[in-house]
Amino acid sequence: MDQSSIKLQLPEAPRDFGFFVNGKTVPAGDREVFERHSPAHDVPVTRLPQCTAADLDDAVAAARTAFADRRWSGLSGADRAAVLLKAADGIRARLEEIAYWEALESGKPIAQLRGEVGGCVGMFEYAAGLARSLHGDSFNNLGEGMFGVVTREPVGVVGIITPWNFPFLILCERVPYVLASGNSIVAKPSEFTSASAVILGEILTEAGLPEGVFNVVTGIGATVGQAMAEHHDVDMLSFTGSTRTGRAIVAAAGASNFKKLGLELGGKNPQIVFADADLEDAADGVAFGIGFNGGQCCVSGARLIVEASVAEKFAQMVADKMAKITVGDPLDETTQIGAITTDAQNTTILGYIEQGKSEGAELVLGGDVMDMGAGQFIAPTIFGNVTRDMAIAREEIFGPVLTVTPFQTLDEAIEIANDTDYGLAASVWTKNIDKALTVTRRVQAGRFWVNTTLAGGPELPIGGFKQSGWGREAGAMGVEEYTQVKSTHIEIGKRNHWIG
Ligand code: NDP
Repeated sequence: MDQSSIKLQLPEAPRDFGFFVNGKTVPAGDREVFERHSPAHDVPVTRLPQCTAADLDDAVAAARTAFADRRWSGLSGADRAAVLLKAADGIRARLEEIAYWEALESGKPIAQLRGEVGGCVGMFEYAAGLARSLHGDSFNNLGEGMFGVVTREPVGVVGIITPWNFPFLILCERVPYVLASGNSIVAKPSEFTSASAVILGEILTEAGLPEGVFNVVTGIGATVGQAMAEHHDVDMLSFTGSTRTGRAIVAAAGASNFKKLGLELGGKNPQIVFADADLEDAADGVAFGIGFNGGQCCVSGARLIVEASVAEKFAQMVADKMAKITVGDPLDETTQIGAITTDAQNTTILGYIEQGKSEGAELVLGGDVMDMGAGQFIAPTIFGNVTRDMAIAREEIFGPVLTVTPFQTLDEAIEIANDTDYGLAASVWTKNIDKALTVTRRVQAGRFWVNTTLAGGPELPIGGFKQSGWGREAGAMGVEEYTQVKSTHIEIGKRNHWIG
């Protein structure tokens, strides 16, 4: 698609996408088709095939054949890196197209998406370096007669199930790292936001990835996703989504082939603000931490835990910031928060807002839908006087809803922060280095931010403590997770005989 032909206006007709197997786009044929309506405009924007379990079998078979004949895993790291670098160029070249269709399917702002897709270029570039630097270990200290080598091998066929909140970004936090060591992939994007995964298939093939190494099966989680979790020929599965579905995946893996799992699940992430913080900076950061992507991030900073002496003043500073966020049309380049992506999520968020009101929390800001003429939009919302037992303080809302809970002492702040089943991310705002370090050491979270929030990039690994998941994605660990470790003992010279 010619990039210059993309205009920031609604398409005249929904675009048809296929799914992607063995290096080729497969049209829907006589399969059922999903028609995705833009959650911001209520018009159909894309059409994608509803694949069946038989389609999944075909994709897994293609990935298995590609893995078994070593067309990718047998290449040198340098050759794999060359393909990943070309894919980075391909993403750069089609950035506007990916951002446009994802804005329509997800309701995210176009300006935000350009940044996200640009970040994915960096993921491929960084993983290309890792393809060349991945290595094992050796033991030269086992005596004159023995040498030990530890090598890393790709796991095999890797399934990747992704959610609707960061369709392209979450995929690209996994795909280049999984490919770096030589695995084959079958991806199952969310039924609501599948287009960008299919475009990635085209980009990878154009970059020279051999056929069958990357496949995309579009379809419904409860059927195709569940079948992937149960599949005996999928060696590892990376799942990102709700903790509820994560439990089903663990059960399915245990009941089938004990496939290795990577899980990135929910979060209820604290933003701890001390009175000695740069409060202007912190207020902007807290507003960004909950407002970005309409709060539909697993790492959203949803719980503001603020020192009591400044709690009221600081909550007002955050409210002033959040009241200025531009909510609106995702295709408008000035929009900061777009639509709520799914109807179910919209209902869930509004339900929690009602629950917050009925539980006795104080509504400081927002608390209602925003009428934009079409689509589903929710005003940035803050609840004050939130106690730890309230559902809005304990459960993942996954929307632009911030709760405010004051604390008196550092120990109490840490206790409140850890009083959750989750452990995905946390932020601390203070100019006191001792407090910052004490909090980062004692709060249980896989990602931590000090005097900033939601920072990221390809270098640092991501993942959660507690019920937020297993394993790590991205960084060097993001490649190592998708390898098996093999230990080899090598006899030098003649063995001491056991018999005679
Ligand atoms: P899900 O966990 O249902 O969906 C995530 C992915 O899993 C989608 O691709 C989905 O497919 C697929 N899926 C659904 N059921 C199964 C299954 N039985 N086996 C295998 N795959 C399956 O999340 P929801 O979209 O329902 O969101 C619900 C809640 O999850 C949110 O409110 C939020 O709290 C949390 N969430 C967390 C995310 C995170 O980044 N950690 C991301 C998204 C949601 P399909 O789209 O077809 O259903």
